[in-house]
Amino acid sequence: MVRVSVDDSGPGACAKPADAVALPRYAGAPASTFCRRRGFLARAGQVVAEPSGDGSVLLNVGLGAAGSATPATFRAAAAAAVRAAGPARTLRLDLALADGPVPPAERARAVTEGALLALYRYDTHRSRKPARTLDELIVAVPQPEAAAAVREAQAVSDGTCLARDLVNAPPGELTPTLFADRARQMAEEYGFSCTVHEGAALAELGLAGLTAVGRGSREAAKYVEIDYAPEGAPAVPVVSLVGKGVTFDSGGLSLKQAREMHTMKSDMGGAAAVVGALASLARLALPVRVRSHLPLTENMPDGAALRTGDVVRHLDGTTTEIVNTDNEGRLVLADVLVHAGRARPDLLIDVATLTSAAAHALGTRTGALFTNDEQLAETVLASADRTGEPLCRLPLAEDERRHLHSATADRANCSYRYGDTTQAALFLQDFVPTGLPWAHLDIAAPAHNDEPSYREVPHGGTGFGVRTLVETLRRVSGGE
Ligand code: MN
Ligand code: MN
Repeated sequence: MVRVSVDDSGPGACAKPADAVALPRYAGAPASTFCRRRGFLARAGQVVAEPSGDGSVLLNVGLGAAGSATPATFRAAAAAAVRAAGPARTLRLDLALADGPVPPAERARAVTEGALLALYRYDTHRSRKPARTLDELIVAVPQPEAAAAVREAQAVSDGTCLARDLVNAPPGELTPTLFADRARQMAEEYGFSCTVHEGAALAELGLAGLTAVGRGSREAAKYVEIDYAPEGAPAVPVVSLVGKGVTFDSGGLSLKQAREMHTMKSDMGGAAAVVGALASLARLALPVRVRSHLPLTENMPDGAALRTGDVVRHLDGTTTEIVNTDNEGRLVLADVLVHAGRARPDLLIDVATLTSAAAHALGTRTGALFTNDEQLAETVLASADRTGEPLCRLPLAEDERRHLHSATADRANCSYRYGDTTQAALFLQDFVPTGLPWAHLDIAAPAHNDEPSYREVPHGGTGFGVRTLVETLRRVSGGE
């Protein structure tokens, strides 16, 4: 674990020595001969390492044009610096000292996040661990008040890395039971109240979709509820978070092809994002009441598995015909939305790796947002934008509802060839109480990065959603 310290001596003052120092460079500013000879133009993300007289290494980190810098520029610059730090044991990041259009505390936050998120490694299962040299990260802040932003960024980054660990864990080591154990551990560590529903008690709750999907696996389904109600938090709003936790999705009897099944340990990315957000929330001591709901199951083709043609009767009395057992996510979430809605929260947000079709529309780095509430749309989109998790709002296009038609039940969990992301969202909307502001984040694509790492995003589990959730909660709790 890297230690993070803050250097608030400010620009130009006597600063903490370090093995490597990352210096901010805007394009067009004068550069050393050493840099110029190596073609350094201070393009965003460009890094040139330069030896300094005292034996340390100066990392010249490009920020691009001063006028166009954003928090994303600083996150990417810090990530690039961390990757270029080589064998340094201590790395000082002076990047937030660069003046410009981004306010000082925002720069400090972005630099800390970019560095910590880029430092993430998942090497639990490697017998030869790559050498880890960096012990200490020193974040230089332009003014002492910005130190708080560094601590906040640490809390959010740690939550994101927790979600990444959960997504990266092999599915055999993160069954519903083991996921529930991890969630309970997190809850105990931070003093949340946590209930794990299982066996007969779970059956009694009547979460029919979860139970039906869970039947196909030898691993028992679990349903975890974690409540965060910090002392002094106002009575309203109460926010309910729902996270899809399919710890492995084989597709069930509608079995996936090998190539698509390969990364299906990540089908619990929504539940992971909720757990990561809760951990961050506690560290930030945000004064907001949160109830979280995690349906955990595998989707497997056991002899007891859901058949196509089966009909599930949900908690609200309506029925769904199973047309494709690989569309298990909407089934699992349906009853949980009813259950969460019955407790009358003021806001309901679900996060789910729901449809691969979302990637066809938006590519693999952007999540889809559906919501029935304009104000919530604005809050969630602004949160995603500020924290660097790209989200795009898609419409709850009523015309698409015709594809949910079933000849034998109230609806089908069918996916038509086109528009599955929208149809899945419409399916979920059926289970949300009328009038309750609800947002649905489909993060099927960005929860797992199949490509090499880029900027602050690693290969594998990305922790997508944690930052947006935390920022959304901060805003609804009255933060500006
Ligand atoms: Mn599926
Ligand atoms: Mn799934």
